Amino acid sequence: MRNRAPFRSGELFYNITVMAKLSIRDISPAGKRVLMRVDFNVPLEDGNITDDTRIRAAIPSIEHLTKAGARVILMSHLGRPKGEKNPEFTLEPVAKRLGELLGSTVHFASDCVGPEVEETVNNLSDGEVLLLENVRFYKGETDNDAEFAAQLGKLGDIYVNDAFGTAHRAHASTEGVTHYINQCAMGFLIEKELKFLVEELESPKGPFVVIMGGAKVSDKIKILERLMEKADAFIIGGAMANTFRLAQGYDIGKSFAERTDEAMELARGILKTAEDKNIGFHVAADTRYAREFAANAPTEVTAPWAEGGSVPADAEGIDIGDKAIEEFNDIISKAGTVIWNGPMGVFEKAGFDIGTRAVGKAMADNADALTIVGGGDSVTAANQFGFGDKMDHMSTGGGASLELLEGKELPGIAAINNV
Ligand code: AMP
Repeated sequence: MRNRAPFRSGELFYNITVMAKLSIRDISPAGKRVLMRVDFNVPLEDGNITDDTRIRAAIPSIEHLTKAGARVILMSHLGRPKGEKNPEFTLEPVAKRLGELLGSTVHFASDCVGPEVEETVNNLSDGEVLLLENVRFYKGETDNDAEFAAQLGKLGDIYVNDAFGTAHRAHASTEGVTHYINQCAMGFLIEKELKFLVEELESPKGPFVVIMGGAKVSDKIKILERLMEKADAFIIGGAMANTFRLAQGYDIGKSFAERTDEAMELARGILKTAEDKNIGFHVAADTRYAREFAANAPTEVTAPWAEGGSVPADAEGIDIGDKAIEEFNDIISKAGTVIWNGPMGVFEKAGFDIGTRAVGKAMADNADALTIVGGGDSVTAANQFGFGDKMDHMSTGGGASLELLEGKELPGIAAINNV
């Protein structure tokens, strides 16, 4: 983590305008009904919340509004009720948990649209918080149906979006509703995502190192191509590295890889671009492999690929090798900016997690670098290995962060007012 005051959601400590989008800091919400889209899609077991991280994450934006005297109306989805009212996916336990965290009453509406909800909303006092029932109980939500969006729009004078994880979806609560409310702003969570995944990467402090891993090259090809415009070095691990090694003509045994002609062409194209642009493109120098795909199965490491290494025909590459780890540590320790997307191996299984753990540690140990973990599995891994709080930014979106890194305009962010 870079040695400087960390970004603290809810506090104005930097002076730059993020993406020229209207922020929750810029609005005057006193006495107004503020309809805020949050991401309360929490894991539940038998109606109990097993991880309340997402609820906690929304608190700075909620408290900012309540302290300013707003009447806060929260909406979210939970799970996949597929457009039907299903008590299994009710947000009621979330309202209770949020009330505990805020230390004040959180009202709950057993629906998210309609005359009764409108009456409840209109009876709120300044500073009060109401959580609406799951917006995905209506098909109109994911269909981005105009009538449903208009009904949601009746519930707010101001709209705030703080649900980054769904910002890449044009749904009624993330996009449609903004056609019915004039003032639409982003909350602190989206503001922070834009600061790190867009603004900081405009002119990153060098060397700018991109760590890529995970399952497929094809999923991340656009990000690879786009970041090649800025990056000084790439570090490639995971099954993605297997695909590159196969494309280079090496024997990868039973390793998981994309083996189609298209994937081979994609991989060769990337290697060629990297060479042409003189970008250090470091595919893991050696590979850890196993004959059994099970936790704590015996593993061995190939000879370095460049020295004739190969994965035996009856084995599969499940992690990066020791030479790769040494080389990656060295590159990461000298980086000025590091962005990480995708594990180096099958980190979910004990014994196959060595490379992923090492990369996370190298990032955490580089006190001078700006460190960004780009969502999904890498965030899970960084938290699992205890490095989460050492990173400058851990993205809260999987698909949304990938699309933002690809340079796409996300519908939920495009819909926010420009300033
Ligand atoms: P992604 O969603 O593309 O980031 O891929 C993450 C998944 O890739 C994780 O579930 C890992 O277990 C898996 N993965 C990483 N390395 C390998 C590998 N060498 N072989 C098979 N799966 C892998």
